[in-house]
Amino acid sequence: MRTPIIAGNWKMHLNRCQTAQLAGELKVGHKWPGQVEVVIAPPFTSLGTAAEVLQDTPISLAAQNVHPKDQGAFTGEISPVFLVELGCEYVIVGHSERREYFLESDDFINQKVKTLLAKNLKPILCVGERLEHREQNQHYDIVGEQVINGVAQIESTEMEKIVIAYEPVWAIGTGKVATSEQIDEMHLFIRKVIERRFNSDIAAKVRIQYGGSVKPDNAAEILGLPNVDGALVGGASLKTSDFLAIVKAC
Ligand code: PEP
Repeated sequence: MRTPIIAGNWKMHLNRCQTAQLAGELKVGHKWPGQVEVVIAPPFTSLGTAAEVLQDTPISLAAQNVHPKDQGAFTGEISPVFLVELGCEYVIVGHSERREYFLESDDFINQKVKTLLAKNLKPILCVGERLEHREQNQHYDIVGEQVINGVAQIESTEMEKIVIAYEPVWAIGTGKVATSEQIDEMHLFIRKVIERRFNSDIAAKVRIQYGGSVKPDNAAEILGLPNVDGALVGGASLKTSDFLAIVKAC
């Protein structure tokens, strides 16, 4: 049995005061520990505040990015060591916004994945095709390649610690949701890719989240799909009632 995981990607929203407020409301409102894992990913500057509020709660903390090196002359970057110190458990890597605006390559993302595992941090590895890929029927090739490259040189014992988030780029922040059929087919495909690369036992353990305009009104349908093990939620994670409704649906 895979425990489903709902993660809120706050992106570049919410200062420390707003973080304390939302994290505090989630702490009180989360009534399903054990049944669903809940994770929030505030901006770096709010991680310390969120860690204090969520201490001794079942809600885990994720960072939205990391640098593959522990330290060095990398102005503006954040070391995985700092994230461990803050109490992070997960780190989002390969988000389409980082691939697009910061030109992050599969290889760079793979370096981050390896660093995180070495530090006992769990990667949430985002993959997903752009609209033109889907229109040209290249979506399986693109997503398969992102998965294989993202987990290059990973031992099978480490693979089950990685969460894959399938996020079709055309569905992120657009209000367009992939159909249930498109989502379940792609999740099944990703599991097959992991099975071919590792083995069926590992593939059965890896959790695959869907991300892309998940809201309270579509959460139950998406999260009820057989190959969906949770959601990575952007916009709807910024409102307590919406995020908790998605957790409840899960
Ligand atoms: C995301 O950015 O990971 C995301 C899924 O955003 P939204 O839910 O707003 O589409």
